Amino acid sequence: MAFDSLGSSHSWAARTYPEVLETAEADGSILIVPVGSIEQHGHHLPVATDTLLVDAVANLGADRVEGDVPILVTPPVWTGYSPHHLSFGGTITTTFEGLLGLLESVSDSALENGFDAILLLNGHGGNIALVNGAVSTIGVAHPETEVLGLTYFQLAGSFIDDIRESDLGGMAHGGEFETSLMQYLYPDLVHEDRFEATAWETEYEHGPSDMFAGGPLASYRGFDEYSECGAIGAPELASAEKGEIIADLLGDELEAILRAVHRHTRGE
Ligand SMILES: [Zn+2]
Repeated sequence: MAFDSLGSSHSWAARTYPEVLETAEADGSILIVPVGSIEQHGHHLPVATDTLLVDAVANLGADRVEGDVPILVTPPVWTGYSPHHLSFGGTITTTFEGLLGLLESVSDSALENGFDAILLLNGHGGNIALVNGAVSTIGVAHPETEVLGLTYFQLAGSFIDDIRESDLGGMAHGGEFETSLMQYLYPDLVHEDRFEATAWETEYEHGPSDMFAGGPLASYRGFDEYSECGAIGAPELASAEKGEIIADLLGDELEAILRAVHRHTRGE
């Protein structure tokens, strides 16, 4: 299957402005802004992997509440904060302040239409701190709006142990998790003949060692210190079947959040 988010009835970009206003002004309305990145993902995945996946997950969630919750999804913010990937090539990054300012100005103007809630849905590890910070600055500027942030893959923490075949470290950058989702959602963009990745080695017990095993200790590394080819994890254990299960469960988790936000902003 392949996503064409412009084709969905909750695509902001495909609506006319009266349609945008009608949705935004409805009681309990929600706007999702997917935030991705353009950065190297090893030899087997495209540089837009994070943007493609977060756009797909945003639309999976919105599809599930269609008809019950007034909702729109903007086109994804296609670039993110990725200075740690630059040395490989293929990466386009913003500055930290630049992306924060972009998310603030996108939110400021989008919220003028009357949405009751905005969800910044992030798809890139390097954006996590920034998106959570943007929730605070946008929240301060819009006290009447429910301002929320979420990194989509963290939703999988509750179920991923039942699905994964890799040991810790196998679900990292371009590993079993992201490669499975890409094989399911965008199979034409995955090069299965070029799987190559390094195991995630961390020198600190309290640092992160997998997408789903993050210690409390933050550190900065250029990605070339982790991996020669750019990918970390176990892409050889990925499959489209696994990707379908993961995508379905992510959609369910996001649906639950969207329904809860809708109920909350309606005062239920
Ligand atoms: Zn990624």
